[in-house]
Amino acid sequence: LEAIYASEKTLPFVTKDGVNITIQMNAGLALDLPFLDGTGASGVGLFRTELQFLIGSQLPSVAMQEALYREALDLANGKPVIFRTADIGGDKTAPYMDHGNEVNPAMGWRGARMAVDRPGMIRPQLRALLSAATDQTLWVMFPFITLTAEVDEIKALLDLEIDRARRHGKGLPKDIKIGVMIETPAAAWRAELIAQKVDFLSVGGNDLAQFYFAADRDSERVQRRYDPMNGGFLSFLKNTVEKVSRTGTPLSYCGEQTADAVTAAALIAVGVRQFSLPAAFVGPFRRLVRSIDVGEASAWMAEHSIAPEATLRPSFKQYLRDAG
Ligand code: PEP
Ligand code: MG
Repeated sequence: LEAIYASEKTLPFVTKDGVNITIQMNAGLALDLPFLDGTGASGVGLFRTELQFLIGSQLPSVAMQEALYREALDLANGKPVIFRTADIGGDKTAPYMDHGNEVNPAMGWRGARMAVDRPGMIRPQLRALLSAATDQTLWVMFPFITLTAEVDEIKALLDLEIDRARRHGKGLPKDIKIGVMIETPAAAWRAELIAQKVDFLSVGGNDLAQFYFAADRDSERVQRRYDPMNGGFLSFLKNTVEKVSRTGTPLSYCGEQTADAVTAAALIAVGVRQFSLPAAFVGPFRRLVRSIDVGEASAWMAEHSIAPEATLRPSFKQYLRDAG
């Protein structure tokens, strides 16, 4: 199978009816980067920087962070790498940090909240990113935004680090692209306002679905209720995509629901045109893209997502089969 995917890796991500889909890859370690060329992905759409924070026994130094980012950029060989600042907290706790006694850590002190409240952690990270991307374009993305004001607060922290680098006579990236994750219903509801403050957005479908359904993404008991093929959720996504597209700010989808071909096709049908997915999903995803007629699938979805069915999975799967 790998040989088949390898022979297909230069085929463009274009649907049957000629719609271009952009595919990037999720990563978290330098080890993931060599897959970039192998898959034909156009860059890294989500580099989960917190992994480095979680594997050590103490906070990684600026030098260690910078070395990792530099290595990732070198291995990407000119393709963009979107570094997501550390989303620690929730399901990702660092042993050396005091996470307090939160009953619901997924809704607790994490991501952008921690960054804004305790800049002592994000500022060194931003320093490392600015330095690693000297003379290149730096792509940086902030996780777990709920309020539009948090976008301003976090951008102000980046400005402080840019000023600091200038004062110290350090080199800087030649361009900086700032993005945020849309992974809370609050951010999705205000996505149009957030889009106007940044260069790009990425929907974190893992968390967004968790909070949309109020169903823990890791709990087996509520797994049935965490269903990205629910018509309500799909129309919620469609609404978000449409609001953002009016602003012209690019939006991608980096949740791992793309593991399932039916769901991935549904995401295309509600208007997503850019994805970031684990390397292993890219080959099958290319096949899916090349087999789908977006015009027809979108029409199907528009008609069916308003139905009160619990899940559209079986009917959409049947539609895809019939459509060939
Ligand atoms: C997400 O929430 O969809 C996401 C990509 O981030 P993570 O899975 O790291 O929370
Ligand atoms: Mg997330």
